[in-house]
Amino acid sequence: MKKILNFIGGEFVEPQNGTYLDNYDPSRGKVYSKIPRSGAPDVEAAVAAAQQAFPAWSALSAQERSRHLMAISKLIDQKLPDLAKAESLDNGKPLKLAQSVDIPRARDNFAFFATAILHEEDPFHNMGSKGFNYTLRQPLGTVACISPWNLPLYLFTWKIAPALAAGNCVVAKPSEVTPMTAFLLSLICHEAGLPKGVLNLVHGLGPEAGEALIQNNTIKAISFTGGTKTGAHIASVAAPKFKKLSLELGGKNPNIVFADADFDRAVKTSVRASFANQGQICLCGSRIFVQAAIYDKFKSAFLERVKGLTVGPPQEEDSRMGALVSKEHLEKVMGYIDLAQAEGGTLLTGGKQVQMQGEYAQGYYLEPTVFENLSYNCRTNQEEIFGPVVTLTPFETEEEVLKMANSTEYGLAATVFTQNLSRAHRVAQELQSGIVWINDWLVRDLRTPFGGAKNSGVGREGGFEALHFFTEAKNVCFNF
Ligand code: NDP
Repeated sequence: MKKILNFIGGEFVEPQNGTYLDNYDPSRGKVYSKIPRSGAPDVEAAVAAAQQAFPAWSALSAQERSRHLMAISKLIDQKLPDLAKAESLDNGKPLKLAQSVDIPRARDNFAFFATAILHEEDPFHNMGSKGFNYTLRQPLGTVACISPWNLPLYLFTWKIAPALAAGNCVVAKPSEVTPMTAFLLSLICHEAGLPKGVLNLVHGLGPEAGEALIQNNTIKAISFTGGTKTGAHIASVAAPKFKKLSLELGGKNPNIVFADADFDRAVKTSVRASFANQGQICLCGSRIFVQAAIYDKFKSAFLERVKGLTVGPPQEEDSRMGALVSKEHLEKVMGYIDLAQAEGGTLLTGGKQVQMQGEYAQGYYLEPTVFENLSYNCRTNQEEIFGPVVTLTPFETEEEVLKMANSTEYGLAATVFTQNLSRAHRVAQELQSGIVWINDWLVRDLRTPFGGAKNSGVGREGGFEALHFFTEAKNVCFNF
């Protein structure tokens, strides 16, 4: 059976305690590889390797660091088919999605930050006859990057690339649920000749390896993407140690359809925003609000499309939805389907596990599920489900829908469908959300700041904001 290894100081090493965890293929419900169950000694070794590599790495010019990152980006591109297969197997998502979104985006993340550092300028302030000031941005040292299982390589590289580009060394921990593409990335970094210790990967459980990493006093910053509860815990550990912190957390995103929307586009995009990656994207629109004048028409067109989504083995060409990531997660999502019914919701479609045949019979498949007749403030409409379960709710006025949309503790993303330009801008301003899409979903320029409002997180990733997060700004005030 394939064995994943830690990547520490440029070497592929076993965990010091010699213990391994099972890694499941969710499409078959079977163990297909072993991953290190690392502990504090592995994290300490990784931090020591990073500290040793830091003086030389941070002393490189931007051009030299850029060349290293571009080499990694090119190798990701060359190995795109294999990486996509690995991600689909590890995560259960349709192969097509991994090929067209996840892996290209991981490649682009490295290319983006490799080139961003070539164009960054630090501010200079002229004080006239008194002198001048300038801002010197310096890397922090060793930083931690911790990512979740839903977009494993995409989110992992979105943190690692800017941290390395800014001149830091990194100790990273991928989710133990989907470790394979992170392991393949370590092989790529090795092949690309990234200097030893610049990037270190420690596999293992959040409360063990992850906890040792966030507790480590040498770590200067933590960039974390994951659940709000874990984020709150990390903040409570990091704040008294004065570590820099970027938290990208959960969401319960509204998808708002006004009666004047381009109807076909609103239906098609809402289906994608609801069920892409089996609804396991933090940005998925799980609360669909539709203006009353078109509610019935929208409902029937939406349901027709949803019923046409093929749930199937991720590797098969016509599968539009694959398997959920794990048995535990499937059970959690099924629990929310029970809750929605207990709260009086009307099940319009779905709600049941999908039984596959043959080798896929033990996989974790669930029908795309739609409810209506639930109040906007019930638990189903307030808590993050993170699966293929959405609700439909009618509304009359802009004021009413804004109240419902803004009612959750989260504020990650929102989508608005309208042809009325003034309304689009007005509603975008009023939504309590880090990102608002108008007439689209998931399309975003990598230069824009990305992050959540309210309990969806603090800090912004993306563009120069990410590079700045991974640096300390020093002001040099020079007087004549
Ligand atoms: P978790 O919060 O459970 O885990 C995220 C990562 O943190 C994993 O690598 C996990 O390890 C690790 N971890 C867990 N406990 C600790 C700890 N005490 N110290 C350090 N690290 C720890 O999230 P999920 O993996 O379940 O991911 C789903 C969540 O991520 C959803 O809430 C989703 O909304 C959110 N998300 C947010 C995004 C955003 O951009 N805002 C994007 C994508 C997802 P392990 O897996 O081993 O437990």
